[in-house]
Amino acid sequence: MSLWNHYHIATSIYDALEALKVSPQPAALVGGGTDLLLELQQGRHKPVQTLVDITRVPELTRMEVQSGRLFIGAAVPVGCISQSPLVHEHARSVAEGCALIGGPQVRNSATLGGNVAHALPAADGMIGLLALDAMALVADASGLREVALLDLFEGPGRSKLRPGFDLLVGFYVHTAQPGQGSAFRRIMRPQGVALPILNMAAWVEREGERIRRVRIAVGPAGPTPQRASAVEDLLTGVIFERNQIERAKELLQSSVTFRTSAYRSTSEYRYSVSEVLLEDVLAAAWKRSGGNLENL
Ligand SMILES: Cc1cc2nc3c(=O)[nH]c(=O)nc-3n(C[C@H](O)[C@H](O)[C@H](O)COP(=O)(O)OP(=O)(O)OC[C@H]3O[C@@H](n4cnc5c(N)ncnc54)[C@H](O)[C@@H]3O)c2cc1C
Repeated sequence: MSLWNHYHIATSIYDALEALKVSPQPAALVGGGTDLLLELQQGRHKPVQTLVDITRVPELTRMEVQSGRLFIGAAVPVGCISQSPLVHEHARSVAEGCALIGGPQVRNSATLGGNVAHALPAADGMIGLLALDAMALVADASGLREVALLDLFEGPGRSKLRPGFDLLVGFYVHTAQPGQGSAFRRIMRPQGVALPILNMAAWVEREGERIRRVRIAVGPAGPTPQRASAVEDLLTGVIFERNQIERAKELLQSSVTFRTSAYRSTSEYRYSVSEVLLEDVLAAAWKRSGGNLENL
């Protein structure tokens, strides 16, 4: 039995949206198919008649700086993102998150848009974007709109994007300025197995020896992707030094919920490794911001 009966390769955003509307129903968007095809095969996605392939839509395959922001198209394979000099320069946490997704075959097809649209709370590319406060560019029949990344998620595997109506075009992050740095780290089972035990991304802005601003994204730490807001508040304005990092680790333990998941990890293990991961990711981001690690 075939998993779909019609396959439409969209050539523009309009063509993709139109195909979703007029093709034999139900119709679904497909990027690399690394999530969707497995779910169809395993009966975890309702059957579809039509797949609308968005990987050849020009706007979705761009990576470029536009008016002070880096744009990463939703259909760019994560392998390309991980190797892009532009992404390394401006969005290191995204490059590092994408570099760890699956193995090379998966990374050659999986897209960043699919990673976000699938709405898992620890998707690696998405966590990298979250620390950069990314905005998503979404298209529907009425035009284009920007949505804060966090506002796209409803629950584990449940996106607020309306199937059949909304198309992720890409993501905007601010270009990196002197004194800023970001990083992504994860604890995982052997490379190639889907999704991490725990991942974190951090972005810092440095003012001398002080942390001027900081953002920390943690997955999986709830039904939807999470920022460690209490830890961010604690670290804002403080000197980057051992005592403050120890306080941040303690607060992370009490302010974030790690649960046990059947295939990946116990909650206790996640709590215990979260301290190491937090220090590691903050130190890497701090170093990239030009800060020194002597006080750590
Ligand atoms: C062996 C294996 C290992 C993996 N390892 C990891 C891992 O380590 N880390 C990790 O994060 N993920 C991992 N994944 C999951 C997966 O590869 C990613 O989530 C991938 O980025 C999904 O992108 P895709 O283009 O393949 O999405 P698809 O499978 O094509 O689509 C997924 C969903 O998103 C929707 N969609 C796709 N593009 C758009 C768009 N532009 N606009 C709106 N909706 C859209 C589809 O309709 C579908 O519902 C792994 C998968 C496999 C098979």
